[in-house]
Amino acid sequence: MKIIMLGAPGAGKGTQAKMIAEKYSIPHVSTGDIFRANIKDQTELGMEAKKYMDQGLLVPDELTVKILLDRVAKDDCKNGYVLDGFPRTIPQAEVLDKAVSELNESIDFAINVDVKDENIVKRMSGRRACLKCGATYHIEHIPPKKEGICDKCGSELVLRDDDKPETVQKRLNVYHEQTQPLIDYYNKKGILREVDGSQDMKDVFSAIVAILGE
Ligand code: ADP
Ligand code: AMP
Repeated sequence: MKIIMLGAPGAGKGTQAKMIAEKYSIPHVSTGDIFRANIKDQTELGMEAKKYMDQGLLVPDELTVKILLDRVAKDDCKNGYVLDGFPRTIPQAEVLDKAVSELNESIDFAINVDVKDENIVKRMSGRRACLKCGATYHIEHIPPKKEGICDKCGSELVLRDDDKPETVQKRLNVYHEQTQPLIDYYNKKGILREVDGSQDMKDVFSAIVAILGE
């Protein structure tokens, strides 16, 4: 099964993608996580991506498309994957379509996790991320067992630089301009499904399972 998660930054794509990955035994592929891992390891790709991420801008398609295509060509993606944060532009979606159709395959569902902008700003300021294992928490809604410490790997949790309020509004503007048109793109292909992302995370997940099947 090949699934794309759509939605504004902070809508809960990553939270749901991790649950989908576990239930359906497919890898969770997040371009944001790949960039953050590269930044942590101070690779050339990481240093280049950081320039854009810190400003709330999209990393250019040339860089992003290559890392995504390399990742989905790996063996563990043979039976499908759930993409989180990719595609974010129409050209990225077209490249993905081409790569998938060259394998005589297709994307099964594009799930749009819909949350209003006002709620997004609240969610992002409360998000805490583990830069080591990629786990995410929310200080009010999904707190870690011990404040500031990742339940999964024991590392320190941080407020991502790009989750600071001044950057969040810019990321939302970028989302509306460059990423939202993908909703129409996948609707025209007949694979768009909408879920109300403002519900409790368990209810959002139930709505997704109702779409994907048990
Ligand atoms: P995205 O991957 O779309 O950027 P995340 O999955 O990281 O978003 O979620 C953004 C923040 O909102 C995180 O702090 C997460 O813990 C929290 N969150 C996710 N889903 C919900 C939900 N249904 N209700 C409340 N908070 C949520
Ligand atoms: P995310 O973790 O998905 O919120 O992504 C964090 C940041 O990484 C984004 O704000 C972008 O700067 C960059 N990024 C992640 N995925 C992409 C993508 N598909 N295209 C361009 N930039 C991306």
